[in-house]
Amino acid sequence: MIANGAAECAVVFVDLDNFRRINKCFGHETGDNLLHAAARRLHRFVTEQDGLAGRFGGDEFVLVVHGKRDEAALNVLAEQIVTELAFPHHFKELRVSVTASLGIARFPQDGTDAGQLIQYAHTAMYETKKMGGQGFRHFIKEMAADATDSLLIEGRLRQALENNEFSLMFQPIIRAGSTETSIVETLLRWTNGQKEKIAPDRFIPVAEASGLILDIGRWVLHAACRQASHWQQTRTTPIVVSVNASPLQLASPRFCDDVQAAMDAADLPPALLAIELTERLMVEEDAITSANIRRLTEMGVRVALDDFGTGYSSLSYLTRYQIQCIKIDRSFIAEIECDAQSRALVQAIIGIGKSLNVAMVAEGVETQGQATLLETMGCDYLQGFLIGRPVSAAAL
Ligand code: C2E
Ligand code: CA
Ligand code: CA
Repeated sequence: MIANGAAECAVVFVDLDNFRRINKCFGHETGDNLLHAAARRLHRFVTEQDGLAGRFGGDEFVLVVHGKRDEAALNVLAEQIVTELAFPHHFKELRVSVTASLGIARFPQDGTDAGQLIQYAHTAMYETKKMGGQGFRHFIKEMAADATDSLLIEGRLRQALENNEFSLMFQPIIRAGSTETSIVETLLRWTNGQKEKIAPDRFIPVAEASGLILDIGRWVLHAACRQASHWQQTRTTPIVVSVNASPLQLASPRFCDDVQAAMDAADLPPALLAIELTERLMVEEDAITSANIRRLTEMGVRVALDDFGTGYSSLSYLTRYQIQCIKIDRSFIAEIECDAQSRALVQAIIGIGKSLNVAMVAEGVETQGQATLLETMGCDYLQGFLIGRPVSAAAL
C-alpha cells in the first residue's frame, strides 16, 4: 500500500491470548478450528477496497487498513475486533472462547517502512499482553525501548534459575491490634549476573508472557516451603507462609502436584501454607483453575484472593471459588484517612468478607491512622510498610 502511494494506512497486529492452552486443553484439531473461525471473523473487518487481512504465523494475524482512518476510527475498529473475537465458538458440543490482544501502528505517523510498522504494531500488541491481554494499544515511541528491555529480560531470565539469581523476601502480616506476625508473604527478588536488581513488576509479566513463570513459580514454592518448615521448627508461634501464584500456574494441570511436592520435600503441614491468586490475567471460568483451587482447599492449603477490587470480576470469584482470605488492594487503603468514599468502600468490602466468613487482609498500610481505622472497621489482618517492609528471612 505504501508502494502504491497510499496517503495513510495502519497495521493492526492481532494475537490470541493463551492460545497454547487451547491446544493443550482441547487438542490441536480444536485449535485449528479456532484459528479458522478467528480468521473468518477478522476477514469481515476488511473489504478488498480498504485493506487486507492475513495470518502472520501461529496464532498471530495482521490487518492492514487504509483510507481515512484517524485514531478515533481505529479505536472503534480495534474495539469491535476485540469484542467480536471474544464471542464463544461452538465446535460440536464444545464451547470454546479465546480473547485477543491487539497493537496498532500507523503510517506515516509511526514509521514509513513496512517492516518497521509491523514490528511496531507487534510491540504495541505485546504491551496489551503485559496489561493482561484482551484489548488494544497504539504504538508510541517509548514502547520501542521497552520492547528491547523485555527481550533482554527474557534472555537473562532463562539463565536466572540455573545461576541461582532468585531469592525470597518476606513481609510480615499481623492480626489487627496485635504486634505478633502470624502470616508472612513471600516476595520474589531477582539480582541478575550484572548485580542489577530487577523489580518483580518488570520481570514477572515477561516470565508470564514467555511461560517461564511455571519453572520460576515452582522454585518459589520449594524455597517458601523450606523456609516455612524451618520457622515451624525454630519458632514458638506458628507462621503461615503465603506464596504468590501466577494465574498461569493456577491454570496448569500439575500445579497442585507441584504444591504437594514442595510441602513433602520440606515436610511442611498444609495448614502453614497459603496460595495468593490474583485475578489479573485470569481467564473466565477456567475449568483447570477451578479444579486446582478446590483441590488446594481439600489438601488443607489456604487460598487468598490478592489485589481484591482491582479486577473486573472480584465478586464473581467469591461465588465461583472457595476462598479463605481476601487481600484488599492497597489502592483502596491509601485514601481511607482523607477520603470518605474510599473509607465507605473499604468498609463495604470488609462487610462482604464478614458475611462470607472470609479473613480480610488490608494491604499497603503505611500510617498509624490507617491501621487504627482498619481495626475499628473490623479488618482482621494488616500488611504494609507500617507493619514491616519485606526483609530477608534472617531479618524477620
Ligand atoms: P503483591 O502481591 O500485591 O505484593 C505486594 C507488593 O506491595 C510488594 O511489592 C510489596 O513490597 C509492596 N508493598 C507492601 N507493603 C507496601 C506499602 O505499605 N506501601 C507500598 N507502596 N507498597 C507496599 P513487590 O515485592 O515489588 O511485588 C510486586 C508484585 O510482584 C506483587 O504484588 C506480586 O503480584 C508480584 N510477585 C512478587 N513475588 C511473586 C512471586 O513469587 N510469584 C508471582 N507470580 N508474583 C510475584
Ligand atoms: Ca500478593
Ligand atoms: Ca496484592
